[in-house]
Amino acid sequence: MGTIKMNTLCPVCGFNLGFPAWKGYSASHETCLSCGIEFGYHDVMEASGIIGTKEEIYMMWRKKWIEKGMPWSVSEAYKPTNWNPKKQLKNIGIEI
Ligand SMILES: [Zn+2]
Repeated sequence: MGTIKMNTLCPVCGFNLGFPAWKGYSASHETCLSCGIEFGYHDVMEASGIIGTKEEIYMMWRKKWIEKGMPWSVSEAYKPTNWNPKKQLKNIGIEI
């Protein structure tokens, strides 16, 4: 029996959330400390105001976050030392 490796990266910014954003159809209802997206709220069509799939919503959110200069979304106290948002985006294959 192998271990199931859960994907705990934020699908928007690549931050390691420490939990999966979604487990199947069940949202974590947690917020990404890095980009500020709330899973089960901002990434569902009704709340986001974006018409599209989750992937499209993530893409839009990422674009906006990058345009804002990739700010850390919560208190600096939670920010990892040497936090590098550009490097973090590479976790999900985004090169900017
Ligand atoms: Zn994020």
